[in-house]
Amino acid sequence: MLYLVATPIGNLSDMTLRGLEILREVDLVASEDTRKTGRLLQHFEIKKRQISFHEHNEARAGQKIINLLLQGQSVAVVSDAGTPGIADPGYTLVRQAIAHDIPVTMIPGPSAVVMALVLSGLPSHSFTFRGFPPRKEGKRRRFLAVDAESPHTLIFYESPYRLKAFLADALEVYGDRPAAIANELTKLYESVERGLLSELLAAFDEVEPRGEYVVVIGGEGVKG
Ligand code: SAM
Repeated sequence: MLYLVATPIGNLSDMTLRGLEILREVDLVASEDTRKTGRLLQHFEIKKRQISFHEHNEARAGQKIINLLLQGQSVAVVSDAGTPGIADPGYTLVRQAIAHDIPVTMIPGPSAVVMALVLSGLPSHSFTFRGFPPRKEGKRRRFLAVDAESPHTLIFYESPYRLKAFLADALEVYGDRPAAIANELTKLYESVERGLLSELLAAFDEVEPRGEYVVVIGGEGVKG
């Protein structure tokens, strides 16, 4: 059996009981970062063999995991934080498991995209998650333009180093829409700032972005 196990995005108390049960039960854990997951396992006093499974060895490690599953072993995939497969490795492995008729399930839990959407106060009945935008301005603007006429709420992950450039491009491409910026969710300095894109951008004249961010932007025609 293949399990995709969600882990906390900041607050260790968000680890689910079922997630812990599965991590204790499986034959091995496939981790994006074995050191980080090692700390998580240690915190919960779980001793388990780990193998590494990250974006740079996804194909090779994925094949190894499939072979182990075909031999009857059970494997839990965990990413550094949150839900595996969401802006993290997981998707190709799920596809391979399905192709080999290997039973696959997920132990649900935290994901920054869902928490930011719900807290944004923007329509949550219909949304588009775009993950990380490209780093370069030209590509980023073309990437944003794809959804310029979409009525759905748009959600992006962004690094603190590119947040201001991202907001400036979003303002340029979408106009001054209602938006929300979620920072350090579930952590000590959790915050959600809401306002027009221009206001959210202007707030960074005074402070530099720090920590982890999710940006949520209203779809075309959505009022704040
Ligand atoms: N798989 C994860 C999930 O389910 O949310 C996402 C992994 S992705 C590599 C990491 C990005 O998710 C960060 O750069 C940030 O944009 C967002 N993120 C993760 N944890 C966060 C948090 N506590 N607060 C705000 N954003 C977070």
